[in-house]
Amino acid sequence: MANLFIASPHGFCFGINRAIDLARETREKYSEDIYFLGELVHNQHVVDWLESELKIRTVQSIDQIPRGSVVIIRAHGAPPQTYNQAVAKGLTIVDASCPLVLKSHQTVSKFSSQNKKIIFLCNSITHDETIGVVGENPYLVTPVVISDISTLDIPDPQNCIVMTQTTLSTLETKDALDFLKNKYPQITIMPHICQATSDRQNAIIELVKTCTLVIIVGSSTSANSNSLQKVAESVGVKSFIIDNASEINYKWFAGHQNIAISSGASTPESILEEVVQKINEIIHQ
Ligand code: SF4
Repeated sequence: MANLFIASPHGFCFGINRAIDLARETREKYSEDIYFLGELVHNQHVVDWLESELKIRTVQSIDQIPRGSVVIIRAHGAPPQTYNQAVAKGLTIVDASCPLVLKSHQTVSKFSSQNKKIIFLCNSITHDETIGVVGENPYLVTPVVISDISTLDIPDPQNCIVMTQTTLSTLETKDALDFLKNKYPQITIMPHICQATSDRQNAIIELVKTCTLVIIVGSSTSANSNSLQKVAESVGVKSFIIDNASEINYKWFAGHQNIAISSGASTPESILEEVVQKINEIIHQ
């Protein structure tokens, strides 16, 4: 009979719990209309639940928010221009940006004031965290997708800082940073992968010593969920990322004795439990 091992830790991180608590508190505190600027967290189940429970609408730009309303800034942060627009429009700002993302903004701000060039390694230049951090100084910060690292040319390495998105794969990042250090010994490297991301990935790295299949429960838009899958695949283990139990394919499990499962930092525990239940039904039938 096959075994299913649940990674520990998995699921909600400190930053996501904080953003959800802030949304609840904002609903209690204000009678005005409240808007999320973009998905508060990258998980549609959580966003749908918050919208229906708290009667908070999600919009994509400050232009869509009426004057006098309250705006909640997403967990992934936003560029300074967004805050300026909100202030100019007289909105009340509730900042649900994760403090660990804000640390990256502070790092950019500090080194920009010294006129240093900054490379921001990310998994997508259109991810909200990337847009927010680059927005701190678009003239000095260049976003670079980590898989494109070998094409990167840095003419002035002694004047360059390399930073990372908080949710990158730790294994892929180590390889990328080793490559850069080797090519540009004078470069300064300041990785910002957060503890929650590393801990969840380390749990997968431990499990794949004995498991031959990994299932990640999370949204395809969730950077940290995708990185969990990347970590499994980079050590040669087959893995799938699914949003919910309806996406499970029973054929995946044939021939696997030990299976690992984890969930991204914005995946509700109830969704993971449904997936666990369905997999157990498949592997124990
Ligand atoms: S994954 Fe890390 S950076 Fe992102 S919200 Fe969670 S704690 Fe913050």
